[in-house]
Amino acid sequence: MKETEVTESWNHIFIFVVHPIIIIIVFLYSINLTICDSISAPSDTILLDCGSSGESSYNGARWIGDIGSSFLLPKYSKSSSTLSVLNQYHKRVPKIPYSTTRIIHSPLNYTFSFTRSLKFIRIYFLSASYLNMNPSKAYFSVKAGCYTLLSSFSPFVASQELNLAYFTKDFLVNVVEEKLNITIIPSSLISNAFAFVNGIEIFSVPSTIYFPVSNFHVPYLGHQELNISDHQYALEMLYRVSIHEVENVFGAWVEDSGYLYSSLHGSVLDSRIRPLSITYNTSTSFDFNYSAPEELYWIARTMGSNQDANMEYNLTWSFPVDSGFKYLVRLHFCEISMEVTKVNQRVFKVYINNQTAEERMDLVALVGAPFVAFYKDYVVMVPRESERRRNMSIALHPNIASKPKFADAILNGIEIIKLSDSNFNLAVSFPLKEEHQKKKRKAPLVIVLACTSAVAFALFIAIYVLIHQSCKKQNRENLQVLSLNATRENYKNMQVKMTSGHQCYQFTLAEINIATDNFKEDQVIGEGGFGKVYKGIINDGVTPCAIKRCKKGSHQGFKEFQNEISFFTFCHLNVVSLIGFCQEENELILVYEYMANGSLCDHLYKKQNQPLSWNQRLKICVGAARGLHYLHTGTRQSIIHRDIKSANILLDHHLVPKISDFGLSRIIPFSSHTHVTTEVKGTFGYLDPEYYKRRKLTEKSDVYSFGVVLFEVLCGRPAVKRVEVEEQSEKVGLAEWALHCHQCRSIEHLVDAKLEGKIRSDCLVAFVEIGIQCLSHRSVERPTMGDVLSKLEDILSLQESFEDQEITM
Ligand code: ATP
Repeated sequence: MKETEVTESWNHIFIFVVHPIIIIIVFLYSINLTICDSISAPSDTILLDCGSSGESSYNGARWIGDIGSSFLLPKYSKSSSTLSVLNQYHKRVPKIPYSTTRIIHSPLNYTFSFTRSLKFIRIYFLSASYLNMNPSKAYFSVKAGCYTLLSSFSPFVASQELNLAYFTKDFLVNVVEEKLNITIIPSSLISNAFAFVNGIEIFSVPSTIYFPVSNFHVPYLGHQELNISDHQYALEMLYRVSIHEVENVFGAWVEDSGYLYSSLHGSVLDSRIRPLSITYNTSTSFDFNYSAPEELYWIARTMGSNQDANMEYNLTWSFPVDSGFKYLVRLHFCEISMEVTKVNQRVFKVYINNQTAEERMDLVALVGAPFVAFYKDYVVMVPRESERRRNMSIALHPNIASKPKFADAILNGIEIIKLSDSNFNLAVSFPLKEEHQKKKRKAPLVIVLACTSAVAFALFIAIYVLIHQSCKKQNRENLQVLSLNATRENYKNMQVKMTSGHQCYQFTLAEINIATDNFKEDQVIGEGGFGKVYKGIINDGVTPCAIKRCKKGSHQGFKEFQNEISFFTFCHLNVVSLIGFCQEENELILVYEYMANGSLCDHLYKKQNQPLSWNQRLKICVGAARGLHYLHTGTRQSIIHRDIKSANILLDHHLVPKISDFGLSRIIPFSSHTHVTTEVKGTFGYLDPEYYKRRKLTEKSDVYSFGVVLFEVLCGRPAVKRVEVEEQSEKVGLAEWALHCHQCRSIEHLVDAKLEGKIRSDCLVAFVEIGIQCLSHRSVERPTMGDVLSKLEDILSLQESFEDQEITM
């Protein structure tokens, strides 16, 4: 063959064979890339930042302000208002979309145009005091097309239930027209109800993620099977839980540890230490961006290696859900143990809400091999009850009837999705607050009261303006009117840099004088070591607060004052917020959020308050434990409170507990130490004996004091009590008394007479047990606040199930 012929035929081979192959490879590679990349950004995403204008970019995402956008008709812009909300109280809240909001007083529509498909809709809420309106007046419904997503919804109650200041609600709605209206309607059930929304996110998702084929049937527990097709239902995505944190297009899956309900938590099987290749069961439709990510199957929770112990318990998770709805429960499985490779080696039962979902679950038998990922769907009805919220349980237990090699069970992930009912409804109304209800029933009285209050208010304003004017003359240079709705400019001026580098609002003495009516004795609500505490009104006469005034000439007071200010950045539902301070003319003054129900000790024994029920006491313990757990672990450094006592657990108007008084608190940097050596401070009766002896302060010192609080709650008596012994008065510590009763197996002597017959016996045993552990003399033997919290949550659930049974009997 001639040289030119050879070159020509090579050219032909290149053009007709190699070139197309290269194109195909590049094409396939690019498809693969797009699939991998698309996890963070589905192409048709709308991110609407409500209450703002223009475009802004945040964490790599592009948000569009709703002001002037095509999604909101001008008439709606006029009938609602917008507001900048984030201030010094909201340091940890993501700036977008939470820094602005749209406040809605009459029905408002957002209209989105797009192709028909299944849409993911996420609505963002930050529960805050908007325009100084009572947050509990935010009470509204949200509709998407014909579906009611939220009904008589209270973000305020929701944020308390979730223990989060900001949160999202996630839905899947099948859009059958080329546009979608999202309508927000303030409730007509209460006067002056309003609505608000901080952000809306929408994008298309494959319709097969929860409904793989049309006429898809799933086991319906307690019934035959249920036919679910995507046209019939809207869905609310409630829980996506894995054994370690993973992520897909809908965001992070949460770790399961917060939902574990059984006393034993099994053990974690991690296949990442010996990488293995996982395949996927072809009968389940996998779309890794939208369904479970691959990493979900790398780690599983099993019951543990103690087979005898496994036979004695159910590995159980528990999830609060609304009663009266059907739920799609998707359980993710993959056998990843090197020891379980054949059929009949690990066989277990699955229960969902106490109904048998699987009698004989053998993963290897079901999918034919180990290391094969798959999921199974079930529908379960949670019947309507008197209570809005119920706990849905998912439990695993070994099935030893067929004599498997291991008495054990395994699970990788759980999804719980609410299905809309036959009225296209996904929502259950939040309970109306009692004060709102009363107002409804006694309408004529309300009018009279409203008129009188209006007159009183007008008088008050007139007097206030007069005083304000005269004070202004005296202090023209100092005085700044405090307004939490200040413009950004104004707001900047109000902040003062502290030596610690933090910023905190500095009040003038004139403002404090106005707020407390010149420290009028009538306004005193308490007194402690620091000085008197006054109820004050700030923010142009609308926001109540507690004002602590340092006793004159107290050197100790100055240290506490500085300490309080340096700790002011806390942002947690169960920690009292410091609003600001005043340091002027030898005055040291601290201003806090007002806690309407005073201290926990006032309700246990100090004042003649209506006795707290056992359920209320347990909820208070859980909330306080959450606050303390947050201080120990929730910030960059561990904070030791050093003065935990029932007097420093304050209760708001809903009896939500908050930890207060950081005058003695200390920081332990996470990096270096587990303790600080310091002089002994705190309150007699609550002091950790080890800290007292060795001067080494650790988180466990707070745990000890919290143990004393647990017994104050149970016994309804103070930490130290005077008793008459042989005609002499002696101080008896509650901690010693509790340890004594526990040792003598007479724990019933510890129960407050007002609680007799009200405590379930296993709850009492468990409560005393955790309290006694907290009081261990050796700090290493005490539990962490995380352990205490999860134990108390278990006890609360147990007690609630007991009370439910009593109601139904
Ligand atoms: P000490 O400071 O000596 O340890 P204490 O903790 O009881 O004692 P304070 O923190 O000054 O003292 O509080 C005294 C009382 O004032 C409390 O028991 C409570 O009744 C009231 N009080 C304190 N802070 C607030 C608040 N933020 N809201 C409402 N009441 C409060």
